[in-house]
Amino acid sequence: MPFSSLGLIPPLLRAVSEKSYTAPTAIQSAAIPAILRGEDVLGLAQTGSGKTAAFALPLLQLLQQAPNEKPKPVRIVILAPTRELAAQTGASLRAYAQHLPQQPKIAIVFGGVSINPQMLHLRGGADIVVATPGRLLDLIDHNAVNISRASTLVLDEADRLLDLGFAEEIKRILALLPAQRQNLFFSATFPPAVDALAAALLQQPLRIEVEATDAGKPDIAQTAIAVDEGRRTQLLRHLIQQQQWSRVMVFVATKYAAGHVADKLRRNGIHAEAFHGELSQGKRTQVLADFKAARLQVLVATDVAARGIDIAQLPAVVNYDLPRSVSDYTHRIGRTGRAGQSGAAVSFYSAATEAHLRLIENRLQLKLPREQVPGFEPAEKQQAMTEEAAALATEQLNGGIKGKRKSKKDKLREAAAKSGDGTPPQ
Ligand code: AMP
Repeated sequence: MPFSSLGLIPPLLRAVSEKSYTAPTAIQSAAIPAILRGEDVLGLAQTGSGKTAAFALPLLQLLQQAPNEKPKPVRIVILAPTRELAAQTGASLRAYAQHLPQQPKIAIVFGGVSINPQMLHLRGGADIVVATPGRLLDLIDHNAVNISRASTLVLDEADRLLDLGFAEEIKRILALLPAQRQNLFFSATFPPAVDALAAALLQQPLRIEVEATDAGKPDIAQTAIAVDEGRRTQLLRHLIQQQQWSRVMVFVATKYAAGHVADKLRRNGIHAEAFHGELSQGKRTQVLADFKAARLQVLVATDVAARGIDIAQLPAVVNYDLPRSVSDYTHRIGRTGRAGQSGAAVSFYSAATEAHLRLIENRLQLKLPREQVPGFEPAEKQQAMTEEAAALATEQLNGGIKGKRKSKKDKLREAAAKSGDGTPPQ
């Protein structure tokens, strides 16, 4: 199906063809006509599925029909979990809008930078606000923006928004929006909290699920390589060379590890930088721009910093540390193999982390091929996992520190089961 059959106006079709998109992705074919009709949409889409254009194109078209008012009332609110995703979505909107007769004013606002220029930019209003939730509320509190007339709300990467603890902010923002509006909800994963939010928000939505087996699904070769923990950086260097990865995104568990691994790579002549939440916004922007422009070969990142980032033609992702949760795994590997390109996703595991890897596989109903690289065969023996370690790993997988801990009731239930009294307390 060509783009021209989706009901989009010529200036948008022109922008799409300038992007060299030849055909709509699965989510675009389904969502664009529905959004143009004003329907709510629930998009269960992996990263790289083309979901940004799926909502951006029809919303820009609907905006063309809105009367030109001064000051401009905010008509579309797009909430994104991270600064990078907000910036990226805003940039995509601007690119798709460039040939429209009525140029929309798009404000991109996020925390971690001075609020003043954003307040200044919002003078005279805006048609579209792309925002991280906390900063949007700050701006509303400063009377710099008013969303009471918005006709559309987009929640992008809703699972991430909730993971990052934005539930309260979203609630406040919802209360400030008109009750009558179009809602577009996108999430790569669908845990119960996301399900509940979607159910509360959406009215008879069109549900679009981009299946893992879909032809439009990113083509990612996933493998797990056994390696002793102390030799991971060496193995990483070896793979970069052997596989001739022009660029690679390496995921680690902590900010410290990001700095440490990047330093070690640099000392060995590989152009690498750390990317994590404690860097200044200026540094983050610069590192990301360098990586996007292929001036930087290796980006060593933590999960929080890397969410939603779209890097064109990224050949490989390496899980140096295994992700804590299943949704982190999905998001991490989704950085490669975007928009129909193939990619490699390699997960390092050791004797100490193999059980955690198995839990991730079970949750994803997937079995990663196990590999060893000659010269890097692990020396450490795998230890049988104690019951306690298994329970801890399961808890971590369920969201760890930020996630659901055992409730008092759960603990009582367990105690009752252990004491042989099978009846759980009411
Ligand atoms: P997203 O899932 O929105 O982050 O998009 C992932 C990547 O796919 C971005 O680099 C888009 O520019 C690209 N893209 C979106 N739609 C298409 C399409 N129809 N054909 C080819 N590439 C696309």
